[in-house]
Amino acid sequence: MTTILDGKKIAEMRLEILKEEIEDSGLYPQLATVIVGTDPASQMYIRMKHRACEQVRIGSVGMELAGDATTEQVLHAVTRLNNDTDIHGILIQLPLPKQVDFERVIAAVHPKKDVDGFHPFNLGLLFSAKPRFVPCTPKGIMTLLAEYKIELAGTRAVVVGRSIDVGRPMSALFTNADATVTLCHSKTKNLVEEIRQADILVSAIGKAHFITREMVKHGAVVIDVGINQLNGKLVGDVDFAAVTTIASAITPVPGGVGPMTIATLMENTYRAASMRTCDTVW
Ligand code: NAP
Repeated sequence: MTTILDGKKIAEMRLEILKEEIEDSGLYPQLATVIVGTDPASQMYIRMKHRACEQVRIGSVGMELAGDATTEQVLHAVTRLNNDTDIHGILIQLPLPKQVDFERVIAAVHPKKDVDGFHPFNLGLLFSAKPRFVPCTPKGIMTLLAEYKIELAGTRAVVVGRSIDVGRPMSALFTNADATVTLCHSKTKNLVEEIRQADILVSAIGKAHFITREMVKHGAVVIDVGINQLNGKLVGDVDFAAVTTIASAITPVPGGVGPMTIATLMENTYRAASMRTCDTVW
Protein backbone atom coordinates (compact mmCIF):
# COMPACT_ATOMS: atom_id res chain seq x y z
CA MET A 1 0.00 0.00 0.00
CA THR A 2 1.52 3.30 -1.13
CA THR A 3 1.39 6.22 1.28
CA ILE A 4 0.39 9.52 -0.29
CA LEU A 5 2.45 12.16 1.46
CA ASP A 6 -0.24 14.76 1.98
CA GLY A 7 1.65 18.04 2.05
CA LYS A 8 -1.55 20.05 2.03
CA LYS A 9 -2.82 18.42 5.21
CA ILE A 10 0.52 18.57 7.03
CA ALA A 11 1.06 22.20 6.00
CA GLU A 12 -2.40 23.19 7.32
CA MET A 13 -1.69 21.40 10.59
CA ARG A 14 1.65 23.13 11.01
CA LEU A 15 0.18 26.53 10.15
CA GLU A 16 -2.46 26.06 12.86
CA ILE A 17 0.26 25.26 15.41
CA LEU A 18 2.35 28.20 14.22
CA LYS A 19 -0.60 30.58 14.50
CA GLU A 20 -1.04 29.63 18.17
CA GLU A 21 2.68 29.95 18.81
CA ILE A 22 2.72 33.42 17.27
CA GLU A 23 -0.29 34.48 19.32
CA ASP A 24 1.31 33.20 22.53
CA SER A 25 4.63 34.86 21.73
CA GLY A 26 3.28 38.40 21.71
CA LEU A 27 5.45 39.04 18.65
CA TYR A 28 4.24 40.63 15.45
CA PRO A 29 6.39 39.06 12.72
CA GLN A 30 6.42 40.87 9.40
CA LEU A 31 7.44 39.58 5.99
CA ALA A 32 8.30 41.84 3.06
CA THR A 33 8.10 40.48 -0.45
CA VAL A 34 9.81 42.01 -3.46
CA ILE A 35 8.60 41.25 -6.96
CA VAL A 36 10.15 42.64 -10.12
CA GLY A 37 7.84 42.65 -13.12
CA THR A 38 4.41 41.19 -13.76
CA ASP A 39 5.00 37.51 -14.49
CA PRO A 40 1.60 35.91 -13.74
CA ALA A 41 3.06 32.79 -12.06
CA SER A 42 5.27 34.93 -9.79
CA GLN A 43 2.31 37.14 -8.94
CA MET A 44 0.26 34.08 -8.05
CA TYR A 45 3.02 32.77 -5.74
CA ILE A 46 3.29 36.18 -4.06
CA ARG A 47 -0.49 36.22 -3.45
CA MET A 48 -0.33 32.72 -1.95
CA LYS A 49 2.47 33.79 0.40
CA HIS A 50 0.58 36.90 1.53
CA ARG A 51 -2.54 34.78 2.13
CA ALA A 52 -0.54 32.36 4.27
CA CYS A 53 0.78 35.33 6.28
CA GLU A 54 -2.80 36.43 7.00
CA GLN A 55 -3.70 32.91 8.08
CA VAL A 56 -1.02 32.82 10.80
CA ARG A 57 -1.10 36.53 11.75
CA ILE A 58 2.17 37.44 10.18
CA GLY A 59 2.09 40.96 8.77
CA SER A 60 3.10 41.29 5.15
CA VAL A 61 4.09 44.12 2.88
CA GLY A 62 4.66 43.82 -0.84
CA MET A 63 7.08 45.87 -2.90
CA GLU A 64 6.50 45.84 -6.64
CA LEU A 65 9.16 47.03 -9.05
CA ALA A 66 8.75 47.51 -12.77
CA GLY A 67 9.91 44.72 -15.06
CA ASP A 68 12.72 46.92 -16.39
CA ALA A 69 14.07 47.78 -12.91
CA THR A 70 17.86 47.84 -12.65
CA THR A 71 19.99 45.92 -10.18
CA GLU A 72 20.64 49.21 -8.34
CA GLN A 73 16.92 49.85 -7.95
CA VAL A 74 16.32 46.37 -6.55
CA LEU A 75 19.31 46.79 -4.21
CA HIS A 76 17.89 50.10 -3.03
CA ALA A 77 14.58 48.38 -2.15
CA VAL A 78 16.43 45.63 -0.28
CA THR A 79 18.48 48.18 1.69
CA ARG A 80 15.31 49.98 2.74
CA LEU A 81 13.84 46.70 4.01
CA ASN A 82 17.10 45.73 5.74
CA ASN A 83 16.99 49.02 7.64
CA ASP A 84 13.31 48.76 8.56
CA THR A 85 13.22 47.34 12.09
CA ASP A 86 9.54 46.36 11.72
CA ILE A 87 10.43 43.93 8.92
CA HIS A 88 11.80 40.56 10.06
CA GLY A 89 11.90 38.60 6.81
CA ILE A 90 12.63 39.57 3.21
CA LEU A 91 11.63 37.42 0.26
CA ILE A 92 12.79 38.18 -3.26
CA GLN A 93 10.41 36.49 -5.69
CA LEU A 94 12.35 34.48 -8.27
CA PRO A 95 13.11 34.41 -11.09
CA LEU A 96 14.37 37.96 -11.37
CA PRO A 97 14.44 39.51 -14.86
CA LYS A 98 17.67 38.88 -16.75
CA GLN A 99 19.02 42.42 -16.36
CA VAL A 100 18.98 42.13 -12.55
CA ASP A 101 22.07 40.60 -10.94
CA PHE A 102 20.62 37.75 -8.87
CA GLU A 103 23.84 37.12 -6.90
CA ARG A 104 24.20 40.75 -5.81
CA VAL A 105 20.55 41.02 -4.79
CA ILE A 106 20.59 37.81 -2.74
CA ALA A 107 23.86 38.76 -1.07
CA ALA A 108 22.38 42.17 -0.17
CA VAL A 109 19.57 40.69 1.96
CA HIS A 110 20.60 40.82 5.61
CA PRO A 111 21.40 37.21 6.62
CA LYS A 112 19.14 37.53 9.67
CA LYS A 113 16.20 38.54 7.44
CA ASP A 114 17.01 35.94 4.78
CA VAL A 115 13.92 33.76 5.31
CA ASP A 116 14.46 32.08 1.93
CA GLY A 117 17.91 30.92 3.04
CA PHE A 118 19.63 31.80 -0.24
CA HIS A 119 22.26 34.17 1.20
CA PRO A 120 25.75 32.66 0.84
CA PHE A 121 26.21 32.95 4.61
CA ASN A 122 23.10 30.87 5.34
CA LEU A 123 23.93 28.35 2.62
CA GLY A 124 27.43 28.10 4.13
CA LEU A 125 25.93 27.35 7.54
CA LEU A 126 23.73 24.66 5.99
CA PHE A 127 26.66 23.03 4.22
CA SER A 128 28.63 23.19 7.50
CA ALA A 129 25.81 21.22 9.17
CA LYS A 130 24.92 24.25 11.32
CA PRO A 131 21.77 25.40 9.54
CA ARG A 132 19.99 28.63 10.44
CA PHE A 133 17.70 29.73 7.59
CA VAL A 134 17.27 26.85 5.16
CA PRO A 135 15.59 27.22 1.73
CA CYS A 136 11.88 26.59 2.21
CA THR A 137 11.28 23.84 -0.35
CA PRO A 138 13.95 21.36 0.83
CA LYS A 139 13.28 22.21 4.47
CA GLY A 140 9.57 21.63 3.90
CA ILE A 141 10.40 18.24 2.36
CA MET A 142 12.42 17.31 5.46
CA THR A 143 9.45 18.28 7.64
CA LEU A 144 7.09 16.21 5.51
CA LEU A 145 9.38 13.16 5.72
CA ALA A 146 9.68 13.61 9.49
CA GLU A 147 5.89 13.92 9.90
CA TYR A 148 5.50 10.58 8.11
CA LYS A 149 8.36 9.12 10.19
CA ILE A 150 10.41 8.23 7.13
CA GLU A 151 13.88 7.22 8.24
CA LEU A 152 16.78 8.80 6.35
CA ALA A 153 19.90 7.63 8.15
CA GLY A 154 21.74 5.02 6.13
CA THR A 155 19.47 5.34 3.10
CA ARG A 156 20.59 6.14 -0.43
CA ALA A 157 19.09 9.47 -1.47
CA VAL A 158 19.15 10.63 -5.08
CA VAL A 159 18.33 14.24 -5.89
CA VAL A 160 17.75 15.16 -9.54
CA GLY A 161 18.32 18.88 -10.18
CA ARG A 162 21.05 21.02 -8.60
CA SER A 163 19.46 24.45 -8.28
CA ILE A 164 20.39 26.69 -5.38
CA ASP A 165 16.78 26.78 -4.12
CA VAL A 166 16.05 23.04 -4.20
CA GLY A 167 18.59 20.44 -5.31
CA ARG A 168 21.80 21.66 -3.66
CA PRO A 169 20.31 22.48 -0.23
CA MET A 170 18.30 19.23 -0.41
CA SER A 171 21.51 17.27 -0.85
CA ALA A 172 23.05 19.06 2.17
CA LEU A 173 20.00 18.36 4.35
CA PHE A 174 20.06 14.67 3.41
CA THR A 175 23.80 14.51 4.10
CA ASN A 176 23.24 16.16 7.49
CA ALA A 177 20.57 13.50 8.15
CA ASP A 178 23.10 10.71 7.50
CA ALA A 179 21.78 9.61 4.11
CA THR A 180 24.25 8.82 1.33
CA VAL A 181 23.52 11.33 -1.39
CA THR A 182 23.88 11.43 -5.16
CA LEU A 183 23.14 14.81 -6.74
CA CYS A 184 22.22 14.46 -10.42
CA HIS A 185 21.83 17.06 -13.17
CA SER A 186 21.64 17.39 -16.92
CA LYS A 187 25.25 16.23 -17.41
CA THR A 188 24.92 13.11 -15.24
CA LYS A 189 25.92 9.96 -17.09
CA ASN A 190 23.74 6.89 -16.68
CA LEU A 191 21.05 9.00 -15.02
CA VAL A 192 18.49 6.19 -15.04
CA GLU A 193 20.88 3.83 -13.23
CA GLU A 194 21.58 6.50 -10.62
CA ILE A 195 17.87 7.11 -10.09
CA ARG A 196 17.19 3.37 -9.80
CA GLN A 197 19.52 3.23 -6.77
CA ALA A 198 17.35 5.62 -4.77
CA ASP A 199 15.64 4.66 -1.54
CA ILE A 200 14.59 8.30 -1.40
CA LEU A 201 14.19 10.09 -4.73
CA VAL A 202 13.69 13.84 -5.11
CA SER A 203 13.01 15.22 -8.57
CA ALA A 204 13.42 18.98 -9.10
CA ILE A 205 14.02 19.48 -12.78
CA GLY A 206 10.81 20.99 -14.16
CA LYS A 207 9.99 18.41 -16.86
CA ALA A 208 6.51 16.91 -16.92
CA HIS A 209 6.40 13.15 -16.20
CA PHE A 210 10.16 12.79 -16.67
CA ILE A 211 10.40 10.14 -13.94
CA THR A 212 8.71 6.97 -15.12
CA ARG A 213 7.87 3.74 -13.30
CA GLU A 214 10.83 1.94 -14.93
CA MET A 215 13.29 4.37 -13.30
CA VAL A 216 12.07 3.83 -9.74
CA LYS A 217 13.23 1.15 -7.34
CA HIS A 218 10.48 -0.94 -5.78
CA GLY A 219 9.53 0.58 -2.41
CA ALA A 220 11.28 3.92 -2.96
CA VAL A 221 10.01 7.15 -1.39
CA VAL A 222 9.38 9.61 -4.23
CA ILE A 223 9.28 13.37 -3.70
CA ASP A 224 8.10 15.40 -6.67
CA VAL A 225 9.11 19.06 -6.59
CA GLY A 226 8.34 19.83 -10.22
CA ILE A 227 5.51 22.12 -11.25
CA ASN A 228 4.68 21.77 -14.93
CA GLN A 229 1.76 22.35 -17.25
CA LEU A 230 0.69 19.35 -19.33
CA ASN A 231 -2.41 19.51 -21.52
CA GLY A 232 -3.76 22.36 -19.40
CA LYS A 233 -3.18 20.47 -16.14
CA LEU A 234 -0.66 21.03 -13.35
CA VAL A 235 1.62 17.99 -13.10
CA GLY A 236 4.92 17.14 -11.45
CA ASP A 237 8.17 15.69 -12.80
CA VAL A 238 6.93 12.24 -11.85
CA ASP A 239 4.41 10.13 -13.74
CA PHE A 240 2.31 9.91 -10.59
CA ALA A 241 -0.25 7.29 -11.69
CA ALA A 242 2.42 4.83 -12.82
CA VAL A 243 5.01 5.47 -10.10
CA THR A 244 2.41 5.16 -7.34
CA THR A 245 2.16 1.46 -8.19
CA ILE A 246 5.81 0.87 -7.25
CA ALA A 247 6.72 3.53 -4.64
CA SER A 248 6.21 3.03 -0.91
CA ALA A 249 5.36 6.72 -0.50
CA ILE A 250 4.89 9.58 -2.94
CA THR A 251 3.95 13.26 -2.99
CA PRO A 252 1.13 14.38 -5.28
CA VAL A 253 1.25 17.49 -7.49
CA PRO A 254 -0.52 19.67 -6.54
CA GLY A 255 -0.89 19.18 -2.79
CA GLY A 256 2.55 17.75 -1.94
CA VAL A 257 5.69 19.85 -1.75
CA GLY A 258 4.12 23.22 -2.70
CA PRO A 259 2.08 23.77 0.49
CA MET A 260 5.05 22.64 2.62
CA THR A 261 7.20 25.32 0.96
CA ILE A 262 4.80 28.06 1.97
CA ALA A 263 4.31 26.73 5.51
CA THR A 264 8.08 26.66 5.92
CA LEU A 265 8.36 30.26 4.77
CA MET A 266 5.96 31.19 7.56
CA GLU A 267 8.00 29.20 10.08
CA ASN A 268 11.21 30.85 8.91
CA THR A 269 9.63 34.30 9.21
CA TYR A 270 8.47 33.63 12.76
CA ARG A 271 11.96 32.35 13.54
CA ALA A 272 13.47 35.57 12.15
CA ALA A 273 11.17 37.62 14.38
CA SER A 274 12.06 35.48 17.42
CA MET A 275 15.80 35.79 16.73
CA ARG A 276 15.51 39.55 16.74
CA THR A 277 14.58 39.40 20.43
CA CYS A 278 17.89 37.72 21.33
CA ASP A 279 21.39 38.94 20.86
CA THR A 280 22.61 36.53 18.21
CA VAL A 281 25.68 37.06 16.09
CA TRP A 282 25.34 37.31 12.31
P1 NAP B 1 16.12 25.01 -12.16
O1 NAP B 1 16.86 26.08 -11.47
O2 NAP B 1 15.52 25.23 -13.50
O3 NAP B 1 17.08 23.73 -12.24
C1 NAP B 1 16.70 22.58 -12.91
C2 NAP B 1 17.70 21.51 -12.63
O4 NAP B 1 17.29 20.34 -13.30
C3 NAP B 1 19.12 21.85 -13.11
O5 NAP B 1 20.06 21.47 -12.14
C4 NAP B 1 19.26 21.00 -14.38
O6 NAP B 1 20.58 20.54 -14.62
C5 NAP B 1 18.37 19.81 -14.03
N1 NAP B 1 17.87 19.16 -15.23
C6 NAP B 1 17.18 19.71 -16.24
N2 NAP B 1 16.88 18.78 -17.17
C7 NAP B 1 17.43 17.63 -16.74
C8 NAP B 1 17.49 16.33 -17.28
N3 NAP B 1 16.92 16.00 -18.44
N4 NAP B 1 18.12 15.38 -16.55
C9 NAP B 1 18.71 15.68 -15.38
N5 NAP B 1 18.68 16.90 -14.82
C10 NAP B 1 18.05 17.87 -15.50
O7 NAP B 1 14.96 24.40 -11.29
P2 NAP B 1 14.37 24.61 -9.81
O8 NAP B 1 14.25 26.04 -9.47
O9 NAP B 1 15.05 23.70 -8.86
O10 NAP B 1 12.90 24.05 -10.11
C11 NAP B 1 12.69 22.74 -10.60
C12 NAP B 1 11.20 22.47 -10.66
O11 NAP B 1 10.67 22.55 -9.35
C13 NAP B 1 10.40 23.47 -11.49
O12 NAP B 1 9.32 22.80 -12.08
C14 NAP B 1 9.89 24.46 -10.44
O13 NAP B 1 8.70 25.10 -10.84
C15 NAP B 1 9.64 23.51 -9.29
N6 NAP B 1 9.69 24.14 -7.97
C16 NAP B 1 8.70 23.83 -7.12
C17 NAP B 1 8.71 24.33 -5.83
C18 NAP B 1 7.62 23.94 -4.90
O14 NAP B 1 7.48 24.53 -3.86
N7 NAP B 1 6.83 22.91 -5.23
C19 NAP B 1 9.75 25.16 -5.41
C20 NAP B 1 10.79 25.44 -6.30
C21 NAP B 1 10.76 24.91 -7.59
P3 NAP B 1 21.80 21.56 -14.94
O15 NAP B 1 22.17 22.20 -13.63
O16 NAP B 1 22.86 20.66 -15.45
O17 NAP B 1 21.28 22.54 -15.93
